[in-house]
Amino acid sequence: MDGATLTVDDVHKRFGNLEVLKGISLAARKGDVISLIGASGSGKSTFLRCINLLETPDSGEICVEGELIAMKRDRHGRNHPVDHHQVDRIRAKLGMVFQSFNLWSHMTVLQNVIEAPIHVLGKSRTQAVAEAEALLAKVGLAERRNYYPAHLSGGQQQRVAIARALAMNPAVMLFDEPTSALDPELVGEVLKVMRDLADEGRTMLVVTHEMAFARDVSSHVMFLHQGKVEEEGPPSAVFKSPASERCRQFLAKHL
Ligand code: ADP
Ligand code: MG
Repeated sequence: MDGATLTVDDVHKRFGNLEVLKGISLAARKGDVISLIGASGSGKSTFLRCINLLETPDSGEICVEGELIAMKRDRHGRNHPVDHHQVDRIRAKLGMVFQSFNLWSHMTVLQNVIEAPIHVLGKSRTQAVAEAEALLAKVGLAERRNYYPAHLSGGQQQRVAIARALAMNPAVMLFDEPTSALDPELVGEVLKVMRDLADEGRTMLVVTHEMAFARDVSSHVMFLHQGKVEEEGPPSAVFKSPASERCRQFLAKHL
């Protein structure tokens, strides 16, 4: 555990009779890039949503930068995070990027990026704008700062969403299929930004169907099947000689 930025221990989650997560664990140290792969419905999104508490795990432990998320079982036997301040604090440490870019459509690119640093972190507008400009330059969109999302391509919108998440200086970036909604010719520009973040030593957890990204950029790959980790390891091992036949077939289909 020592030095870990994010640890998840034996997380379970069910929706009614369907047990979607059957005990998933991981440990990410600073700079790790963990790719989560697996068929649709295997529980990848639910796992990410449990980590940032959009869903409450039924059992298991999550610890972000040494802070254990406290959960309590109510009289119906369901878990709840105990403290809303803690939920806010944990969410502020996790930058989430979704498949659908979720930008605020009535705000310009710059306004999207400075909103949370000003209103959540209490930064001055001057400081927030300076940092946003640097982040927009990093994702290649400095000259689009006064555009509205509707006037940007999907790839540009997703790069703004990444800049917006980075503006909170999160300990871990969580990506849920960030390129799945994009036209094929726009996937590369988003993956390049994500590669740059990995090269900078950002800690990242990435749900992806981009197998070349998982193979070339990750430090660790986890293959989920029906709510369990069926195969995991460094990409060199998982991609060259997976122990699981199911994982081998999945990679053969998607590489
Ligand atoms: P993945 O991201 O790997 O495609 P998901 O985590 O989205 O998988 O879904 C895993 C399973 O959980 C699926 O069978 C899905 O239908 C189910 N599921 C996800 N969210 C809910 C929910 N809020 N209520 C009921 N079932 C859900
Ligand atoms: Mg999903």
